[in-house]
Order: sequence, then C-alpha cells, then structure tokens
Amino acid sequence: MKQVIREITKFCLMAIIGGLSFQTFTVSVSAETPEVTAIRIGHSKNSTRFVLDINQNIKFNIFTLANPNRIVIDITEVRWKSNFGGASGKGFIDRYRFGLFKPGTSRIVLDVKNPVIVHKAFVIAPKRNKSYRFVVDLKKVSKQAFEKSIKKPIPRPGKRKLALKPTKDLRSQRSKKLIVLDPGHGGHDPGNLGGKGYRGFPEKTVVLSAAQAIKRELEKTGRYQVIMTRNRDVFLKLRNRSRIAHNKQADLFISIHADSIKSPRVRGATVYTLSEKASDREAAAMARRENKSDIIAGMDLEEEIDIVQSILIDLLKRETMNLSSSFANELIPQLKKAVILRTRPHRTAGLIVLKGLDVPSVLVELGYLTNVKDAKLLMQRETQQNIGRSIVRAADSFFNKTYVAN
Ligand SMILES: [Zn+2]
Repeated sequence: MKQVIREITKFCLMAIIGGLSFQTFTVSVSAETPEVTAIRIGHSKNSTRFVLDINQNIKFNIFTLANPNRIVIDITEVRWKSNFGGASGKGFIDRYRFGLFKPGTSRIVLDVKNPVIVHKAFVIAPKRNKSYRFVVDLKKVSKQAFEKSIKKPIPRPGKRKLALKPTKDLRSQRSKKLIVLDPGHGGHDPGNLGGKGYRGFPEKTVVLSAAQAIKRELEKTGRYQVIMTRNRDVFLKLRNRSRIAHNKQADLFISIHADSIKSPRVRGATVYTLSEKASDREAAAMARRENKSDIIAGMDLEEEIDIVQSILIDLLKRETMNLSSSFANELIPQLKKAVILRTRPHRTAGLIVLKGLDVPSVLVELGYLTNVKDAKLLMQRETQQNIGRSIVRAADSFFNKTYVAN
C-alpha cells in the first residue's frame, strides 16, 4: 500500500509539473495494477511450493477450509497475464483457480488432496531484473492439525438480522420499473464449461455478454431501469446478488446462466423459480451445480441453506413465489421466439440466488454449453438481442397485468 501511495504521489507531482490532464492521471494509476506473469508449482517429498511471479509487490491473506479441503489465498487485485495453461496442480495441490474476488482483492483457491497447512508464505524481492515472487509452502499434516487450522471466513448468519421491511418505499417513487440482471459466476468461478468436442467460452463470459445485450434491449424501451449485479469478470457471493435487488427494492430479479450436461445433444433454455423441493432430478443436480459457486469461493453452504429455509417460509407468506412463477409463465412463450426451449421449460429448485425476499426472481439457463449449437448461438449478438427482446415483452406483459410487487 505504501508503495502504491508513493507511486500515486509521484504521479500527482508529475501531473502538476507536467500539466497532465486528469484523465491521463487516472490511466496512469490503473496501469499500476500488478500483473501475475507466471504460476509455478514445485513438489518435494514433504512439501509443495506454489509460486506467483508478479511485477510488483503485493499483500496477502491466507486461510484454510475443509470439505473439500482448500487453501484460500487473497491478494492485492492483480491482472493475470494468461490462464497459464489450465489449472491442474502438482504435489498436494489437486487443482487451483484464480480470479477477481472483489474490487481490490484477487483470490486463488487451491484444492488440496491431503490435509496440509501453510508452512510459510512470503514475497521475495526481485533480483537482477527478475520479478517479485510470492511463495506459499504447503506441508502435509495430520487431519487433526489441519482441522485446527480451519478458519471460518464469515460470521454465523443466525446472529445477523434479516431486514425484511425496507424503510423507504423506493418503488412508488420510481417512474421506471427497476430490473436487476444477474450474470452468474465470475472471477475465479468460471461456472459451466463446454464439452469435449468444442470448448468455447466459459459460462461466466457467455452470461455476462448476454446480460449486457439484455440490458441494452430493456433500456432502449425507456420503460426500464437496469442494474447489473456485475459488469465485469468479478466474483460475487450468491447472497449478495439477491441482496442488491432487495436493497434497491427492484421490481424483478433475473439471474442469467448457461448449463452443462453429460449428453452433448441436449440443448435448449429452462426457466427456474425457487422451491424447497426440486421439480425433478435434473433440476436438483442443476441447483447443486449453481449453488456450488459459493463453495468454490470458500463460503459455507450450510449456513446459506439455513437462510434459504427461513426465507422460504417468509416467501410463501408474501406471494413472491407466485409472482416469480407468473413472470416465468410470461417469459417462456416469449423466450421460445428467441431460443429453443427444453421440454418442461419451467422447473423449480432450491436455488440460493433466488432467495430474494420480496423481489420476484427467476433464473434462466439460456442453453447448454456442452451443446455446440447452443454454445455458439449464445455468444452471437443476434441471439442475445432476441433473448433481450423476449425479456422485454415478458416484462411488459408481467407489469401490465399488475403483478405489482408491493
Ligand atoms: Zn451457472
């Protein structure tokens, strides 16, 4: 941080001396984001070394999680020079993932095969034109020693009060309906990937691109204001996605995803609404995949499930679930004009991201990335626009039928 401040001060002085414009100044600072140029893993009999080569010094914070065993490393926000040829590990590291966790923080998650602890972690200053090296040494330990090292990153939600009633009524003050679009996954959580034959973009990229097109179509009408839960490749907790809609007292929440399945022939879109019980086995499996997003990030899913259950009771009372189903019913015939639908296109499952308290919420799986046709179509501008238009028509008729969520 000190270094960053020093750098910024230097730029300020340069800006004053050189009469640089403010814009130049901003650009100069963003260019200061450290860049990871290489990831290396080395292994000896008792320890595994994980190394990042970085062009600047960084700060770090490390903790351990169990079931599955993971080492979570939070560092200063960095840029990644490449995807470093996949992410399979070596030694005690089974696999690893990385990405932006939140502005200012990048996260690396190491899936570890054995109970290990972080023996040492440090940054080595560059020598002779080489880069900084961030080193994490893992050492194998007993199960008991590993369990002792586990830290819970978030407080128990039982103690947290859930604000059910917003204080101000923002809805009646708005001239436009507010829709929150939620492109799934992001950062170190890529979501679903394509199949063997064709590996296109990961889910996080497809859904962000689609959501941006949907946003444009909604805003074009002049009837809708759109907030995106994420507008770039950054990770967001499931709970925080729906919380955005709740806090803003949105009129509708649409989570955008793309699915994967074993059979490469299966294609088509599905619209999901929340329920305690999954409508079918496939829906249950899909909910497990989507809810896993927080496990990937190192959250405790059981805590989330508790919240979902308590909220479900509330939702039943509040008719939000009925409204969500009403929107799903409006959306399906419209979506059919833009993309192929699966048989029984309206399904239900216990999806954490749909627990939006008092905001009608649906999750749309736009298609299957494991199907080559779907994977290609979903990245095409025309398909994305058509999906956007179908959402516009569905929203129009949903709000016209006075499904007003009060
Ligand atoms: Zn997803």
